[in-house]
Amino acid sequence: MQIFNTLSRQKEEFVPIEEGKVRMYVCGPTVYNLIHIGNARPMIVFDTVRRYFEYKGYTVNYVSNFTDVDDKIIKKAIEEGTTSDAVSKRYIVECKKDMADLNVKPATTHPLATEEIDGMISMINTLIEKGHAYKAEDGTVYFRTRSFPEYGKLSHRNIDDLESGHRDIKVAGESTKEDPLDFVLWKPKKEGEPYWKSPWCDGRPGWHIECSVMSKKYLGQEIDIHAGGEDLIFPHHENEIAQSEAANGVQFSKYWMHNAFLNIDNKKMSKSLGNFFTVREITEKYDPQVVRFFMLNAHYRSPLNFSAELMESAKSSLERITTAARNLKYRMDNAAEKKSTDAETALYMTTNEFVNKFEEAMEDDFNTADALSAIFEFVKFINTNVSEASSKEFAKLLYDRLEKLCGVMGLLLETDEEDLDSEIEKMIEARQQARKNKDFAEADRIRDELLSKGIILEDTREGVKWKRA
Ligand code: AMP
Ligand code: ZN
Repeated sequence: MQIFNTLSRQKEEFVPIEEGKVRMYVCGPTVYNLIHIGNARPMIVFDTVRRYFEYKGYTVNYVSNFTDVDDKIIKKAIEEGTTSDAVSKRYIVECKKDMADLNVKPATTHPLATEEIDGMISMINTLIEKGHAYKAEDGTVYFRTRSFPEYGKLSHRNIDDLESGHRDIKVAGESTKEDPLDFVLWKPKKEGEPYWKSPWCDGRPGWHIECSVMSKKYLGQEIDIHAGGEDLIFPHHENEIAQSEAANGVQFSKYWMHNAFLNIDNKKMSKSLGNFFTVREITEKYDPQVVRFFMLNAHYRSPLNFSAELMESAKSSLERITTAARNLKYRMDNAAEKKSTDAETALYMTTNEFVNKFEEAMEDDFNTADALSAIFEFVKFINTNVSEASSKEFAKLLYDRLEKLCGVMGLLLETDEEDLDSEIEKMIEARQQARKNKDFAEADRIRDELLSKGIILEDTREGVKWKRA
């Protein structure tokens, strides 16, 4: 399996640290608002990466944090006259709802920065002991950037070029730093802010140290994959590498994966520019599966422009898959023949080709767009080769295969209520037909099957009505 590694700027063969296992950390959102669909891109992309590893038989330890202490959260709390804890708790709940809607699997662990302060103090202590960090007069602790000779290796920047870029900061008077390149590990509290006791001052951690510590605690010092949006390469991930490798003395992460941005009108979608849609707004208009399809229909390293046209086209593409699935389901329930014929068995074997294409695409740095094309070829095959004469077994084999491939993409075959409703209508129709044919056993069977799905039928003068139990 090839993965594009930001460290080497090349595709590299994936070799896990421990056989059969993947240790993966994905930087999570800062929780001060509903997440926007830009934030959903890394969630969906790396959830799909995880699902593919699982499909290949790996056990994935997937850690994704919530940054629940931050200037923006504090600002929001002040505006609302509440605590930053109340703000972050509220938006963690909302974020988890959106993730569930988007069929993003819960992480193995979702650590919260505020619950890991002891680990942060301990890592900062180690960095001070090793000469990689120092306390300034006002109690701020800084990382001594020049003490880490490999600084810049992820973002491919030269430390001296960075120095000149930081002159303005020097002028702006961050006078407590030894060097303008140094970054904050611990900062003193300001009035009204949440704080923790530490050996240096009452205060709170810098953002970068949070991820270094949470990754180490839940995954160990050396991990396979660290991921996030491309805006995190510098300085966040560069700083994480400096902290973790300086403290632990071993390589932090073997592979660094970064998704490109989701844009709107070809401009970066961001809260600060005000040109964003929340996941909630979009999922009120579209089935969340459509959002997922839209994201995966592009390569994760290519910028993606959000537009109503693309969403509409994602919607109709997805419908092609769910329609094929519904037809297969219908055949499974209504086929006269139970067992596959020899011809069907042979036909089924030819669909290995689509699985191979799908896997090849995914093995090539998770090319989900090509993987979806393989699924569409498979859908076309289903539409041409499944008919009223098809056996139940043939329909089921095809359904299971389609479900498995779509499952890697996190796409469900039975999606919104509409789909479900139309399936129910079809079953009711089939029951009416059975009654017309005086096949009362079949009519009863359908009624029972509907009942098992929680659907109650009522025969009224106007015809059959149904309701949910
Ligand atoms: P934040 O809450 O800003 O820390 O962002 C959480 C995650 O969303 C990070 O991995 C960001 O890189 C990512 N992200 C933020 N905005 C976008 C966007 N417009 N497109 C893609 N990823 C984004
Ligand atoms: Zn992070």
